[in-house]
Amino acid sequence: KSAKDVLIIGAGPIGIACALACKKKGLDYVVVEKGALTNSIFNYPLNMTFFSTSEKLEIDNIPFISNNPKPNRNEALEYYRRVATSNNLNINLYEEVISPKKEDEYFKIISAKNTYIAKNVIISTGFYDIPKTINVPGEELPKLMHYYKEAHPFVMQKVVVVGASNSAVDAALEIWRKGGEVTMVVRGDGIGERVKYWVKPDIENRIKEGSIKAYFNAEIEKITKSEVFIKTSKGSIRLENDFVLALTGYKPNFSFLKQLGIKLSDDGNYFPSYNPETMESNIPGLYLAGVICGGMETHKWFIENSRIHAKIILKDISKKLNSSQN
Ligand code: FAD
Repeated sequence: KSAKDVLIIGAGPIGIACALACKKKGLDYVVVEKGALTNSIFNYPLNMTFFSTSEKLEIDNIPFISNNPKPNRNEALEYYRRVATSNNLNINLYEEVISPKKEDEYFKIISAKNTYIAKNVIISTGFYDIPKTINVPGEELPKLMHYYKEAHPFVMQKVVVVGASNSAVDAALEIWRKGGEVTMVVRGDGIGERVKYWVKPDIENRIKEGSIKAYFNAEIEKITKSEVFIKTSKGSIRLENDFVLALTGYKPNFSFLKQLGIKLSDDGNYFPSYNPETMESNIPGLYLAGVICGGMETHKWFIENSRIHAKIILKDISKKLNSSQN
């Protein structure tokens, strides 16, 4: 089997942007994706609205038309789907990369279905697959979830939402509006600073009027089948409880990066090492693209500011491929 010029791991918006850039350069490439196309967006809450306006989510200047300035999940799925299908991008879905390795000059990438040899590899695997856990007794109970899809299962139920970022706030508001009894448990002393500016007053006012209960400077202590114990500055509080939504963020798969020999910073943020001018990691021929670049600081990169990675990377790869042919 001949070596691919480029193998891209992950078909999120940025993996798709890389595939388009490869196609434009006439390279032999393949994208290997473990789930559905744009699997992270597919798994977002059904009613989520992006904080970005649609033109900021466009890749390769292909117009993204949405009904409102800020598109919703369905519109984003439609957009990236059309970009991938109308350009006939070479994407293999439902095929997880299990063992990525560099052997001598080339990469040997073993997936659930195939073995590939590639001259260059781009990792665009995002951060939405691994939730940050809260590490308390009871976290393993089925009533605790790290992903929120829609409000209906929580109607007429006592729900604790852990966290105060966009995901937590959106879930708390939606569940309360549909008739759930919501209590937020927040480690900091207020609603997150990065919460969408048009949503922040909504949640703050619901808390002020008492519609949604909130404990700040508080942490979950223990979860049982029918209760939650919260540690607050005024001591421990026991709440009757049916469901816990621990929406405390997600993190990249660091062991996957380590398997490939990528250096991670030792300051607790696990920033992967790469050259910002080319996006090449400390391993020659191995590139990083999209939100994976931020390590634990998952808010640093998003579609808006990382879609440019595709062009930066392909400029470097095509330069190297051309010089090796001459
Ligand atoms: P992802 O979209 O996460 O794609 C990574 C892909 O890699 C996934 O499809 C995954 O299945 C696949 N993958 C992972 N591991 C493997 C493996 N071993 N083998 C094969 N495939 C693998 N950004 C914005 O710019 N604007 C917004 O408004 C916005 N809103 C957001 C709302 C929410 C709720 C969340 C969670 C994020 C939001 N973001 C937003 C961030 C945005 O999701 C990311 O910027 C975007 O999805 C990142 O694209 P990506 O291609 O880097 O990663």
